[in-house]
Amino acid sequence: MSSGETAASGGAKLDFNCLTDGCEGLIVLDLENVADPDFQAVCPVCHRAYALDESLRDKLTRMMKLISHLRDCEDILGCSAVSVSVAGGEVKIPYALLLTRLNTMITLEIAGRKIDFHLWVKPSNSQVFR
Ligand SMILES: [Zn+2]
Repeated sequence: MSSGETAASGGAKLDFNCLTDGCEGLIVLDLENVADPDFQAVCPVCHRAYALDESLRDKLTRMMKLISHLRDCEDILGCSAVSVSVAGGEVKIPYALLLTRLNTMITLEIAGRKIDFHLWVKPSNSQVFR
């Protein structure tokens, strides 16, 4: 990929709370950086460095690909809807709307401790989300 922000993961970020006792730092990662084996996340408060091990990097890289595929299909998904039955009848929820709600929590293990990552994804094109 050439110029700056790729369509693949632009805007996809992860954050997690620093593991240092008493530190309230929030470490924020750009998902597109994590595939780099030399990538380290650093706590903005206590400056603790977190290296991502290979399996974690692999998971996050696949997560990035998943988001990228969803992005590729945005125009298709934009015309599709999920029907949900409710008391008064049926509601159609556009997939595109669901995509904007792909803000999720994933729990991964780092150094033997479970960490909750908060993942959030910005829609690449707000036009889709009328
Ligand atoms: Zn910290």
